[in-house]
Amino acid sequence: MINDFTRLISALTKLPGIGKKSATRLSYFLLKNKDKSKDIFISIVDFLDKISNCSICGNFSSSDPCEICSSSNRDKKILCVVEEPSDLLAIEETGCYKGQYHILMGNINPLEGKGPDNLRIGELLKRTKDGVFEEILIATNPTIEGESTFLYLQNLLADQNVKISKIATGIPMGGSLEYADKYTLGRAIQSKNYI
Ligand SMILES: [Zn+2]
Repeated sequence: MINDFTRLISALTKLPGIGKKSATRLSYFLLKNKDKSKDIFISIVDFLDKISNCSICGNFSSSDPCEICSSSNRDKKILCVVEEPSDLLAIEETGCYKGQYHILMGNINPLEGKGPDNLRIGELLKRTKDGVFEEILIATNPTIEGESTFLYLQNLLADQNVKISKIATGIPMGGSLEYADKYTLGRAIQSKNYI
């Protein structure tokens, strides 16, 4: 039992924001509420089985292509590049953007050993090289890593016949799109800058 318990605690500490203390508390909760806990885990497993990545934009989705990529009501000429699926969600919630998306799945972060090859940049080039997009709106986060990623993409896309724009400031440096309020993010998208 002790070994099983320790294993569960160490598994739970892999979740973000869960330290050893919270993991221990959670483990006791799970043990004391077996039926409820099993229901929770069954819905998690069901959810994980159902959701995969859209082969076009990379977003999490229960269909491939995802709802956004397959929608006929969205502008096919503008592509918004974001770091994470949570950024896409934040932008969608503003209701200010009706184009396509491309998710990089991270940013360039040398300290964490993450370079361009670890991101969905090859997929981005494949999508943009045919000239289907008139504009690429880069909406990386206002952090040092987000800025480096933006500069890298700007260079990479410079010789393509496409307008590059960047999400406007208004989101403080060091902030993140995910946690920006809807109004600020909506304005940042509407008052984007052309490079
Ligand atoms: Zn998609």
